[in-house]
Amino acid sequence: SSDKDRATPVAKIKVVVRKRPLNKKEMSRKEEDIISIELKTNALTVHETKFKVDLTEYMEKHEFVFDAVLDENVSNDVVYAETVEPIVPLIFQKTKATCFAYGQTGNGKTYTMQPLPLRACQDFLRLMYHTYRNQGFQLFVSFFEIYGGKLFDLLNDRRNLFMREDGKKQVCIVGLQEYKVSDVKTIRDLIERGNATRSTGTTGANEESSRSHAVLQLAIKRSADGSESKPPRAVGKLSFIDLAGSERGADTTDNDKQTRMEGAEINKSLLALKECIRALDNDQNHIPFRGSKLTEVLRDSFVGNSRTVMISCISPSSGSCEHTLNTLRYADRVK
Ligand code: ADP
Ligand code: MG
Repeated sequence: SSDKDRATPVAKIKVVVRKRPLNKKEMSRKEEDIISIELKTNALTVHETKFKVDLTEYMEKHEFVFDAVLDENVSNDVVYAETVEPIVPLIFQKTKATCFAYGQTGNGKTYTMQPLPLRACQDFLRLMYHTYRNQGFQLFVSFFEIYGGKLFDLLNDRRNLFMREDGKKQVCIVGLQEYKVSDVKTIRDLIERGNATRSTGTTGANEESSRSHAVLQLAIKRSADGSESKPPRAVGKLSFIDLAGSERGADTTDNDKQTRMEGAEINKSLLALKECIRALDNDQNHIPFRGSKLTEVLRDSFVGNSRTVMISCISPSSGSCEHTLNTLRYADRVK
């Protein structure tokens, strides 16, 4: 039988936690690594320092278990193998899959997400040219950003895009540029171009991009009998989402009105996302995707044959303990 018959089963939802190394700033502040990870059991422990009323110190341990835990020595190649690689062959079989990076700004969401689509494209192209040779499959890429509840095309000069629902309740983003990709260089250039187009304000790239969700989609399409005369039809899709910084959801008390509104929108979208993934996990018929722009855009990825990977990125530092616990609790509830 062919490869596709032998594809290993992939869990519907996978929750992965990745810990980054201590950075220079944290080290200069003499902050300590408070996260211990046991790779074999996928267990992670946060060692929180607390104080009694008389100010004596004591430790409180918080233990978690996830589908996979990755420590600071784990490379991006291993991250790919643990998260996206097993999903790629399923996309040729009408699967819609989504890989999210969640966490506080500065904890490695972009570092984790950037190499994944390129790796996935290499595998898609290999499958298209070998395993599924001459079967009319084609690969397309699109890349957009959700910022303040609005959509911007990252491969078309930040053109403002609108979402529409067709008669079959399919979501469609009107005017979104889709590029056909048949080699690795093209996809590398497109990804670079999209990244460079992400919102960057006067305050610097990380500052602004932390307020937006970046969505890179790889779509597999197929033209009947391999002919290219008719427009190809959608087969499956793999979406990579570099989410807004989870701390941004707390900007709802900021003095600046714009920041406050953005914070509220981010908060809403991260909560809605969690609710949708939980509904998926419980096989609920009703998926509450209307909760935010992010989940509405992803609507067709939440219905039918879907796979979801959540990569939660955390800092090892004592100074981030509270944020880390919030991130882990979010991931724990998604699981
Ligand atoms: P985020 O997108 O969550 O705001 P970034 O991906 O920009 O965070 O990461 C912040 C900084 O930390 C970057 O300089 C990045 O290179 C570094 N970094 C993040 N994760 C790792 C890691 N696992 N190993 C080494 N460096 C990392
Ligand atoms: Mg980032």
